[in-house]
Amino acid sequence: MAAQFTPMHHHGDFRTMRLVVARGYRMATRGLPPFVAIIVLADRVVSVAANSAGSLFDPTAHAEILAIRRAAKRLRSRSLRGAWLYSTWEPCPMCFSALYKSGFTRLVYGGSTSDLSDAEYGGLRINCSTLCSFGDRPIEIVAGLLREDALAALAVWRVNRDRHCSYGS
Ligand SMILES: [Zn+2]
Repeated sequence: MAAQFTPMHHHGDFRTMRLVVARGYRMATRGLPPFVAIIVLADRVVSVAANSAGSLFDPTAHAEILAIRRAAKRLRSRSLRGAWLYSTWEPCPMCFSALYKSGFTRLVYGGSTSDLSDAEYGGLRINCSTLCSFGDRPIEIVAGLLREDALAALAVWRVNRDRHCSYGS
């Protein structure tokens, strides 16, 4: 079992999360899923991505996966050791596994898996701290930062998604 960190807020957390939730909100107003991720490495933003499962016809095109791919490509590295991920939402097991395998050391998110309906979440509901406990190294997890803003974007999406079309969380 991995040792648990005591989560600490860093000075850039709120600023970066505000960018994440603001972009999520803008997407929600257009009927798009408000799931956005930003990767920071050594205090520098290296990638930003939004969920594109619907537009790419790719069920694995979650914001976190696309952000990891972009960051690794930009850095020309197969490892993102020491990177931090900021996400509107708690990553699903696929995305959290990708973070773990990529060498991330810190995760900050707003809304939790339990805030989403079964249809929005898509099943296999395992929270990140549970999944992390199976690993042999810890990832610091800061949960619920700007959760109210993430929930506000979710509410807007729920109203707008049916008027537009693309679903796909
Ligand atoms: Zn995911």
